[in-house]
Amino acid sequence: MKVYYNSKIAKVVTFLADFATVMLFGAVFTEEKKLSERDKFHEASHVEQYETLFGSGLALAVGIMFTCFAFDCYGWWMLALIFIPLLLYYAWYLIEFVVRFIITLAKQKGWKEAHDKAYHAIVFEREAYDLENEYRKPCQERRYASSFSFLKYY
Ligand SMILES: [Zn+2]
Repeated sequence: MKVYYNSKIAKVVTFLADFATVMLFGAVFTEEKKLSERDKFHEASHVEQYETLFGSGLALAVGIMFTCFAFDCYGWWMLALIFIPLLLYYAWYLIEFVVRFIITLAKQKGWKEAHDKAYHAIVFEREAYDLENEYRKPCQERRYASSFSFLKYY
């Protein structure tokens, strides 16, 4: 897992939020000088989730590409298909956050509480928080995120 410490990118991306570390496109960017083992395990789950959805998005994009060739409707616009694998994870993350945020707000909760509840309930965060303490176990007993394991958290 590639981690960029003292990252300006992390500063920019998280300047409105109260966290200092972010996983972007399979790499980890942090404002900190070093990360705890727990944070590394948390981010490693996000990297695995991202790679899984990147692979799925790539398969989807290639499928759409061949379908378009088959029906003779190809063009330069097809280059935009590359955004499917790159952004699928973030689209999923964001949609799930917004839906959960609205549902919690509708239950007469405040903005801050709705934000925190929605964030912790996102399936990717549930898995990452569940697995972030695995570093305490002996190596052979550790559980890791793999493939679509995050789906178990719904
Ligand atoms: Zn997280």
